[in-house]
Amino acid sequence: MDLLPIFLKLKNQPCLVVGGGEVATRKVLMLLKAEAKVTVVAPEISAQLEQHLSQSEFIYKHGEFSPDDIDKQCLVIAATNKEEVNKLISREAAARNIFVNVVDSPALCSFTMPSIIDRSPIIVAVSSGGASPVLARLLRARLETLIPASYGRLAALVQTFREKVKKQLKTSNQRRRFWEKILQGPIAEMMFAGQEKQAQLSLESAVEEGSDKISNEGEVYLVGAGPGDPDLLTFRALRLLQQADVIVYDRLVSKEILELARRDAEQIYVGKEREFHSLPQENINQLLARLAKEGKRVLRLKGGDPFIFGRGGEEIETLAAEGVNFQVVPGITAAAGCASYTGIPLTHRDHAQSVIFVTGHLRDGSVNLNWEMLAQTEQTVVFYMGLKGVKTICKQLIVHGASKNLPIALVQQGTKQSQKTFIGTLDSMPGIVDSTEIKPPTIIIVGEVVNLHKTLAWFDPAPNT
Ligand code: SAH
Repeated sequence: MDLLPIFLKLKNQPCLVVGGGEVATRKVLMLLKAEAKVTVVAPEISAQLEQHLSQSEFIYKHGEFSPDDIDKQCLVIAATNKEEVNKLISREAAARNIFVNVVDSPALCSFTMPSIIDRSPIIVAVSSGGASPVLARLLRARLETLIPASYGRLAALVQTFREKVKKQLKTSNQRRRFWEKILQGPIAEMMFAGQEKQAQLSLESAVEEGSDKISNEGEVYLVGAGPGDPDLLTFRALRLLQQADVIVYDRLVSKEILELARRDAEQIYVGKEREFHSLPQENINQLLARLAKEGKRVLRLKGGDPFIFGRGGEEIETLAAEGVNFQVVPGITAAAGCASYTGIPLTHRDHAQSVIFVTGHLRDGSVNLNWEMLAQTEQTVVFYMGLKGVKTICKQLIVHGASKNLPIALVQQGTKQSQKTFIGTLDSMPGIVDSTEIKPPTIIIVGEVVNLHKTLAWFDPAPNT
């Protein structure tokens, strides 16, 4: 190991930055974040530094660097564009045993600056030892996606309970077991989901009861899987997929997304009633409640967004009534996914001031939609579940005043490699549907914005899939 990572307490410590350009500015801001007492030496400084200077956040020594500037500093950063000056700074600092960093010159440094993931008080630092700062930055970006934004708040919560736990649980083994359980269980998850008050109350009672009696209650995550492309999952959805014990999924969830689940997680398919033999007496709502009560972390995975034509609301109503803890993770709904992947903006200042999501599932052919409202101009209407009713939809919109030439798009398997887009008018679409083999799921977009597809389509799915 060439470099030992340490975390410096720089509050009120004198630190010197030589240079006033863009890079120097970044270093100064970093040091100010750590509340260091910063001195900047440079013939001129950036506008951003000027701003901070006007708030007296650092000391500015106008002019060229001189070796005396280093005296009494505890660390030095050289960020000038003059190689000779950088070398001089490095030499002078080394002679005084002061830690020095010369930007982009690992050979002249006695310390390097890592890429940082800041979830204070949790801080992760990544270094490539100067070998490849870009690689360190890319790794940092990956870690950013894995560490929930509220990790710091979780750490802060734990800190407020440490003393209490110490009093309650005598041995360090007991305490370790206790914290391991808490930090991998529902209380941590509550913090990540923004249920902070509830997390605090639960932690309080867990401390009272001690490690052996922490209840092994499960919980339910109602998660939107998006329209199909796994890249469209949220960070939170991915993290929960990798920790859930059971995944309860339905027809719309793509295989690629299920493959992201924990390898040993049980997977229960509840797509079609008739294939749902294993538990005939239960409906999905009760199944979720029962699994959670068995102590399992249950992930209910639904296509698109769980609160848009997904019956997500009904499922969690049961959980709420039965006192099961749950959280809801939004997903990209089919309308948004299909619109983006076909280059059809759902609103546009010239064509549509509003967008309506409506179900085109017309029970027994009975038409119970507000066609007059749907036929108005200057709006976009998106029909979910509309393939069967497409002829009725086109006909009724025309009957209620929409132009026969109003453009309409039918998007099959949007965002997937098998995506296909069929464009027509209210007049021609029924014929297109009759003469083409169309595979579900499909969504229908009606409105002037559909014309933009010609110029804005960008997604080029693989042929023959
Ligand atoms: N909760 C889901 C919608 C469930 S209703 C969401 O927010 O997207 C099921 C309907 O969604 C399908 O009949 C179809 O109209 C639409 N749908 C879902 N995924 C789709 C996709 N990848 N491409 C086109 N339509 C899709």
